[in-house]
Amino acid sequence: MKANSFALFGAEPEFDKHLPIGQLYFPSWERYELSFRGIFERQYYTNQGPLTEELEEKLQQFLGVKHAICVTNATIGLMIAAEAMELSGKVILPAFTFIASAQSLTWTDLEPVFCDIDLDTHQIAIDQISALIDRDVSAIMGVNLWGGSCNPKALSKLADAHDVQLYFDSAHSFGCTVDDTAIGNFGRAEVFSFHATKVVSATEGGCICTNDDDLAARLRNIRSSYGARKLVNVVKTANGRMSEAQAAIGLLSLEDFPVNQKNNELLYRYYETQLDAIPGLHLVRPTGVSFSNYQYVVCSVDEREFGLSRDLLIEVLKAENVNARRYFYPGLHRSLPYVQEQAHYLDRLPNTDILCASCIQFPIGAFVSTQIVERICKILIKAHYASAVIRSQYDR
Ligand SMILES: *Cc1c(COP(=O)(O)O)cnc(C)c1O
Repeated sequence: MKANSFALFGAEPEFDKHLPIGQLYFPSWERYELSFRGIFERQYYTNQGPLTEELEEKLQQFLGVKHAICVTNATIGLMIAAEAMELSGKVILPAFTFIASAQSLTWTDLEPVFCDIDLDTHQIAIDQISALIDRDVSAIMGVNLWGGSCNPKALSKLADAHDVQLYFDSAHSFGCTVDDTAIGNFGRAEVFSFHATKVVSATEGGCICTNDDDLAARLRNIRSSYGARKLVNVVKTANGRMSEAQAAIGLLSLEDFPVNQKNNELLYRYYETQLDAIPGLHLVRPTGVSFSNYQYVVCSVDEREFGLSRDLLIEVLKAENVNARRYFYPGLHRSLPYVQEQAHYLDRLPNTDILCASCIQFPIGAFVSTQIVERICKILIKAHYASAVIRSQYDR
């Protein structure tokens, strides 16, 4: 195989347009127009408007949860949750997650305590949590990764045994279920993201779910500067309100969830059969769930087996206009400010380091079709068989 059949070395790229990672589902224009006409007729932009209230109700029904409290985005949702739960001192969370999980703690004056992860599932290593709990730890933040779960039932037992609170960053796992319970019902609260890259989108947005009435009242009062519904005393408030424009898209996106989930699952299965035949690419299955949203296609690259490093494979794909990416990189313990403030973690999270160096994310969602999956996988197979040539050409 010749190196010059790759765009990295001058060939025409496989795709003439940049292929994003996903999800990027858009509702139909007609339904959007109808919904926005309502906003213009009512002349009502924000502050617990009718669309936001309707979205909260529909989310509650869909998830079977007592309270779904919509917010501007998940990052502020996590901050408001930490404040409403009156956390103090330290919070344990995995180091292998998006930076916002830890930044929500930094914004609320809490200290993140990084836990390593399981190499197979990528979820927090539950058996390592107890050793991290001291008298300053007030909570565990579970992160449900890759359309899977981090075993909320086991985490719940552990949190109870140590008398610490438990809540979740569930940005990856909207619509997923553990046995018959929807994610959103576990711990004291769970936070979802409705960012454009998530399976349900409100352009930006998110919601905090809880089955605890008192906590819900606190959450609503903190979210809306001047309070909302039942007034309770809270020390800090914020503007984390969702606007009617966000809720309009959110409602349509929630309606489309079954169709978009099916599309994701179909694409995931296509990837699965083809990736399983490529040496050195190990697809991560959504673990710990009975139903997944298949929001992500993530592989770990075994450099020796595949022939290329993860980073060189990303170069190859980028040149073909496939926006594969390192996710998560470099790991929270190696990100600012934690790499400076908490340098003692640097050699304590070996599994996180392994995955940060080997994980690759492929496109899935609205821009992807089964043909596109096939074309991406063809590049991968070709890159595997031409790996020696690519390496030598690249080093030149
Ligand atoms: C997307 C995401 C967030 C942040 O959500 P925003 O709505 O963008 O604030 C937090 N945690 C994880 C794991 C995410 O994937």
